[in-house]
Amino acid sequence: MLIVAVDGPAGAGKGTLSRALAHHFSFKHIDTGLIYRALAHKALIEKIDFSNRDALIQIAESLVANDLLNPCLRQEAIGNAASKIAIIPMIREQLNQHIRRFCFEVKAPYKGIVLDGRDIGTVVFTDAHIKIFVTASPDIRAQRRSAETTISGQPTTTDMLAQIHERDQRDQSRTIAPLMPAKDAIVIDTSKLSIDEARQHVLVIISSYQQDHRQNRLEAI
Ligand code: C5P
Repeated sequence: MLIVAVDGPAGAGKGTLSRALAHHFSFKHIDTGLIYRALAHKALIEKIDFSNRDALIQIAESLVANDLLNPCLRQEAIGNAASKIAIIPMIREQLNQHIRRFCFEVKAPYKGIVLDGRDIGTVVFTDAHIKIFVTASPDIRAQRRSAETTISGQPTTTDMLAQIHERDQRDQSRTIAPLMPAKDAIVIDTSKLSIDEARQHVLVIISSYQQDHRQNRLEAI
């Protein structure tokens, strides 16, 4: 199973890109941010204080795939809440177990898995076959997020740029699994790229990897 890690900050386009790649190569797409969001959402519904780590861990243990289906998980407020919970090491361990289990359950006809998140290439799958780090300037990311929220009819926020900065700061400065490119990641800045240009770029990277790999296997015979 080919593992493709797509990491990057909020609004960089990694979700759209990952879905497009998964579709093109018939790979399974796993949006790991959704797992953090599902936990934050459940905690908010159950009015759990985010400082109550035991209660959060209990919810994390009980998460099931169906919890990821709620469309309201996409709201920016839930993403922000998720980033507050994501700083807790034991929560990350718990959620990483879910992520690895979801991957383990992926079977043929899927030939690969595209995982998007923050720490896939640096922590969850350090030996992923391909690591992509997608980024874009905060202004562009805020514009994209605002457009997405308007189109999807989610509640809009007056200061998306401030929220993006706040989330970047929290994701990059946490002591465990901070957001950063893996040393062997290919960094793609999508600030000046359309989603289609970014997609083409990564399609070439994955196709070349597959070709080289096939070539190496043939030479080994
Ligand atoms: O990617 P998304 O915006 O859905 O992620 C929501 C939050 O979950 C992120 O801001 C981050 O704090 C956290 N997250 C994480 N590690 C992941 C995926 C998401 O810390 N692999």
